[in-house]
Amino acid sequence: MEVIQHDVVVVGGGAAGIRAAIAAIEEDPNITVAMVSKVYPMRSHTVSAEGGAAAIARADDSLEMHGYDTVKGSDFLADQHVIEYFVEEAPKELTLLEHWGCPWSRNEDGSVATRAFGGMTTKRTWYAADKVGFHMLHSLFQHSMQFDRIVRYDERFVTRLLVDDGSVRGVVALDIRSGELQIILGRAVILATGGAGKCFPFTTNGNIKTGDGMALAYRAGVGLKDMEFVQYHPTGLPGTGILITEATRGEGGHLKNSEGERFLVQYDYGVGNKAELGPRDMISRAIIQEFEAGRGMEGPYGQFVHLDLTHLGEAKLMERLPFVLELARTYIGVDPVTQPIPIRPVVHYMMGGVDTNIDGATDLPGLYAAGEVACVGLNGANRLGSNSLTECLVFGARSGRCAVAYARGSSAGDEAALRRQAEEEGARIDALRGKQKGGEKLAQVRREMQDAMEDGCGVYREQASMDAACRTLAQLKGRYADLVLEDQSKVFNTELITALELGAMLDVAESVAVSAAQRQESRGAHTRKDFTTRDDQNWLHHTMCFFDPAGPRIDRKPVKLGHWEPEERKY
Ligand SMILES: Cc1cc2nc3c(=O)[nH]c(=O)nc-3n(C[C@H](O)[C@H](O)[C@H](O)COP(=O)(O)OP(=O)(O)OC[C@H]3O[C@@H](n4cnc5c(N)ncnc54)[C@H](O)[C@@H]3O)c2cc1C
Repeated sequence: MEVIQHDVVVVGGGAAGIRAAIAAIEEDPNITVAMVSKVYPMRSHTVSAEGGAAAIARADDSLEMHGYDTVKGSDFLADQHVIEYFVEEAPKELTLLEHWGCPWSRNEDGSVATRAFGGMTTKRTWYAADKVGFHMLHSLFQHSMQFDRIVRYDERFVTRLLVDDGSVRGVVALDIRSGELQIILGRAVILATGGAGKCFPFTTNGNIKTGDGMALAYRAGVGLKDMEFVQYHPTGLPGTGILITEATRGEGGHLKNSEGERFLVQYDYGVGNKAELGPRDMISRAIIQEFEAGRGMEGPYGQFVHLDLTHLGEAKLMERLPFVLELARTYIGVDPVTQPIPIRPVVHYMMGGVDTNIDGATDLPGLYAAGEVACVGLNGANRLGSNSLTECLVFGARSGRCAVAYARGSSAGDEAALRRQAEEEGARIDALRGKQKGGEKLAQVRREMQDAMEDGCGVYREQASMDAACRTLAQLKGRYADLVLEDQSKVFNTELITALELGAMLDVAESVAVSAAQRQESRGAHTRKDFTTRDDQNWLHHTMCFFDPAGPRIDRKPVKLGHWEPEERKY
């Protein structure tokens, strides 16, 4: 087995991974950084972000306001020192990205243009038309190319962390092209593998978002934090789940039910009425309530409501939302200039993830995580739209710097022991690829997992349905052992990759369901029909979920409060 040696190994080539790699190399230009990605970096999910990235830019805004909106959005489950650091760094990171080539949209006077986003009290979201992720990732990727000590390993699928003497020493990666395993050693490893939306049937997430990094850390003994909090985005296309960005509402779009009513006007989120500019969890719940009241419309993929942009006019749509026009025309044959777009709530983002501190460090020495795979404590029970791209930059950069500092003081580990672990991993993968007996079909197990998640851990939850999801997932994990793969070849064996991804998703899905089933309150995205209110007395703490061969083990961790007193979340 080939052994490759670097100082820092970054797993992931999205916004968080590339930002971490650049920060690491700038921290110490003498080290080498491996950037390992299962897809070519520009195909990472970051590329599909449309709406924008948050940071204060206007005279009527302040760090205090951005911080308050974020903590309130989180339903007070965020760690406040993390928010304070985040809002301070956010404008610096977005400005730096501009210096690296990101073409932020501009106002007439040349200042940075900002748009409204749900749950933000002022226009705070920086954008580059509605192709923000594309421009951000391009700028990061191009900037990273000037560092020849960032060495890319594209189309390498990381299957395991290598741990020796209590510290992470590297990873095992499958070279997708050849089917051979490689050992990539590093004195620190940063996971930047993104989210896990594909655990659910309807999601805005790309097919590659299968929670691999969460499963890697979980299996190595690191806790997954706040996994019960799964964000639904109110406006996905039925069927594919393709996202129609929140910027459509920021620019003045309306949601309408089967009676043609702008129904959100009826839902006040506590004080006054924000209608379409309410936060995502509340709007998603309002849509489900419309469905339940018989005011949805019926289509081949279940019920939907309309997102109406027709009153905005073609010129504005062309200037501000050209990608939305393209998506609606291409994928459902609807022209938003003249027709409303059918939409439904779809899974969008995981608030939970690998438990880290503000440095991105986990409890396993040498292991760091940043971006959507991580739970640094910024988003609590509900993330505000457009905070996530900025989070990738702010905490990608910090974890890159901190990983270098750690690596400086750590040793290389026992190569023979690491090699033995990698050989074990090789045997596991050979066994999976070689399975011709057993009767379970991959697509069938995946479909049942996704249905269990939608039924048990959807927009509204209750004890019986969450418990049922936990039971189904435990059974599906058993059935996974009986998967049969039709493709035994080594070269570009995409069936094998899909099977490895399904294994990760089953672990992640189970941690979501088990974490959800034990939290007896409603907070942010975790909305229960049987416990309808927030209960700070008993539940103002993070959920921790640990791997155990007998089934997930649940624990808790205090929330770091401070500057902002918990209060009722009203909009
Ligand atoms: C459609 C859509 C629109 C969005 N719009 C916005 C928005 O407007 N504003 C906002 O703030 N947020 C938005 N989000 C959320 C935001 O885009 C993501 O949270 C963020 O981009 C995640 O970046 P990341 O670097 O953590 O992961 P990703 O960009 O998902 O990258 C993950 C990387 O990890 C690699 N990887 C994964 N598993 C493995 C493995 N096993 N081995 C090797 N490599 C692996 C992948 O190859 C990839 O390079 C949106 C999300 C979606 C889905």
